[in-house]
Amino acid sequence: MLAEIRAEAERIAGDLAAIRRHLHQNPELSYKEVNTSAYLSRLLSEWGIKHRIGVGGHGIVADLGPAGKSPKVAFRADMDALPIQEQVQIPFCSTVPGVAHLCGHDAHVAMALGAVRILQNRIGAEGEAIRLLLQPAEELPPGGAEAMIRDGALAGIDSVVALHVCDLPVGQFGLRSGAVTASVDRFQAQVKGRGCHGANPHLGLDPIVIAAGIIQAFQTLVSRTKDPREPAVLSVCRVEAGQQYNILPDTVTMEGTLRAFSPKVREDLLARAERVVRDYPRLFGGEGEWTVSAGHGSVVNDPALALTAARLVEEGWGKEAVVEIPPQNFGEDFANYGDKARLLLVLVGAGPAAVLHSPGFLLDEGVLKEGAAFLAGLMLRLSRGSD
Ligand SMILES: [Zn+2]
Ligand SMILES: [Zn+2]
Repeated sequence: MLAEIRAEAERIAGDLAAIRRHLHQNPELSYKEVNTSAYLSRLLSEWGIKHRIGVGGHGIVADLGPAGKSPKVAFRADMDALPIQEQVQIPFCSTVPGVAHLCGHDAHVAMALGAVRILQNRIGAEGEAIRLLLQPAEELPPGGAEAMIRDGALAGIDSVVALHVCDLPVGQFGLRSGAVTASVDRFQAQVKGRGCHGANPHLGLDPIVIAAGIIQAFQTLVSRTKDPREPAVLSVCRVEAGQQYNILPDTVTMEGTLRAFSPKVREDLLARAERVVRDYPRLFGGEGEWTVSAGHGSVVNDPALALTAARLVEEGWGKEAVVEIPPQNFGEDFANYGDKARLLLVLVGAGPAAVLHSPGFLLDEGVLKEGAAFLAGLMLRLSRGSD
């Protein structure tokens, strides 16, 4: 069966590249995927697939298979682009200045639609009903996953699968059981002191030195307060203070991100970081403020789903195509579906230049047929409940 599915994916590879290139040339930012969504809806209609539009913003939901049968399994592709200027020269490069598909979401959609085409002829005979989720706004919190769930996208679903391109060679699949992507939180801290002449720091309260102490303390939290076997990263990425070389400012503003793989480490580090920001400036008579904006958890792959996927890759692509990957430091709002269903996020090899969020991001389109065939094969298997 898998050999036939792969052959079918090969036959439609040109169509998938055309879809991907159309999206690549016409990228849209998170929450603004108006034309992307309309284009995808048009394609589904042409193929005779009933679907619901406007789900959680510009999301689309389609139930594939016999009418009236409610699916238990779903696959999801995200569709938004990034606010980064593309720097590679390709015939179908982005036509929108400063916006580009540099996380491969154009390929995710093309692979999902390829799976739809393959599944169309096979559901019924070889599998049960399957749901397609085309999701907007993955890149920007609060994210499209949560909004789609609120709009009922997961009703009746117990397992959701997604692909993400990565820099493995084409034809290889990155698999992992357990935590596969990091939780993502964005924090802002403000230290309030009292500005004065840099020559007389004793007449004011220097917030810069206090902020420096906080930044150092953050690194100590990571290295000294949590179990070293549990990974986490606490990075201050933006620091803003002062205007003149000889005047100490009133305030310092800092922004950064916490990445972790377990809910306990995440909660613990956020609580400790907040305490440092609020308490440390008080030692000197200053004040600290702390806010965390909506993030999301870590994607935790269900062991049974990961095993089914590994067996499928072995059967269809060979043992050497299964690559056991370590946890990845990037975040995915796919994690939000985990509150309602078992998850599986698979990384699919798109060649060594597929470096996510880089201006030079370039994927090998060979990934499209491999991803589409894998998704179709896996969804058929899961829909029959044979994991
Ligand atoms: Zn991304
Ligand atoms: Zn992405």
